[in-house]
Amino acid sequence: MRRIGLVSCVKKKASAPCQARDLYISPYFRKMRRFVEASCDDWRILSALHHMIRPTQVIPPYEKTMKGMPRSERRSWARTVYGQIRDEFQEPDAIILEIHGGREYIRDLVPFLTSAGYRVESPVPPLPIGKRMQWYDRNAPGERQRPPRSSRSKETARSFNSVTNLAESGSRCAKVHELLETLPEFDSVDARVPSDGLYFFYEKGELNGHDGSSPRIVRVGNHPRRLGGLPNRLRTHYSGSKNSSVFRKFLGGALLRRSDPNHPCLEPSPGQGHWEKQDERPCQRCKPTEQSVSELLRETFRFRCVEIADREERNRFEEGLVATLAACQKCMPSPKWLGKNAYNEHVRDSGLWNANYVLGSTPLNPRELSRLEELVSTTNAPRS
Ligand SMILES: [Zn+2]
Ligand SMILES: [Zn+2]
Repeated sequence: MRRIGLVSCVKKKASAPCQARDLYISPYFRKMRRFVEASCDDWRILSALHHMIRPTQVIPPYEKTMKGMPRSERRSWARTVYGQIRDEFQEPDAIILEIHGGREYIRDLVPFLTSAGYRVESPVPPLPIGKRMQWYDRNAPGERQRPPRSSRSKETARSFNSVTNLAESGSRCAKVHELLETLPEFDSVDARVPSDGLYFFYEKGELNGHDGSSPRIVRVGNHPRRLGGLPNRLRTHYSGSKNSSVFRKFLGGALLRRSDPNHPCLEPSPGQGHWEKQDERPCQRCKPTEQSVSELLRETFRFRCVEIADREERNRFEEGLVATLAACQKCMPSPKWLGKNAYNEHVRDSGLWNANYVLGSTPLNPRELSRLEELVSTTNAPRS
């Protein structure tokens, strides 16, 4: 799961334009900021005037607050913020939103989020503000370093994951590849696909860096919520549409960008054109891309599955596997890899068609690797 902090703005502001994270200068805001910088993979600021903004966005001081804003205006504010969250964090199943700050900011927002399937957490008990400040002091994180946003890359993923040393994460990635090689390979969804588990895509031309000749895993996927949902999840990739599968959206966007970096269906900017934006409909021009994506999947991709019945375990393995693969120094995308045309920086940087868990998540530990071995052999065992 990727954890995103949402911190509401405060009244006290610096006197000149600056990055939003530095604009709000009250001790309360600073404590919240320090907390989410350590607890979350990334964070955003909820501003009465600017809705949801990145901490690095430069803005001038302003006056607007939620206090005194009519309820109807608050509701429309919440709806706008919800739209921003949907656009930016498109897989509700894979996101935890961690909320900090004023209740007036979240009262109308949370119902939108939970009904869309986001997990919302509010770690601070509902206390008066003085007590909240004390809570942050008591729970202040140690000096745990997060990678700076500006230099997120496979390089930072590796150094951030240095809890497991580099040689180790490489050998864990080698082990994952080796274990999965024993599983049957699919080029379409058939009756042998287990009903619950994780899937692993391989792509023609992409080799792992461990033995130089066997394929590299290029995407790990899950069906986080629905029981028995693995075959259907895979079907939405093969024959669904870009709005039902983030994978298809990534693939189609990369195809369009490779053919024309200024393709009109990708304008105004990467991730914001109607092809790459969730729930926007394709136009006549990009509609055929759906067909191209299906063909690409059939011709260039293969997949394997590991049966994992327990949902919690499956979710943890999804996260740990993506983190392990992303941190490997030896598995690099080939120079011609299609994903280099993806709009999503996590895809481009990690060499995986995955946007979540590539950075800041915990790779598999040795105990989990042994468990994976068990899961693989159960998957391989003849069904009775
Ligand atoms: Zn279009
Ligand atoms: Zn590797």
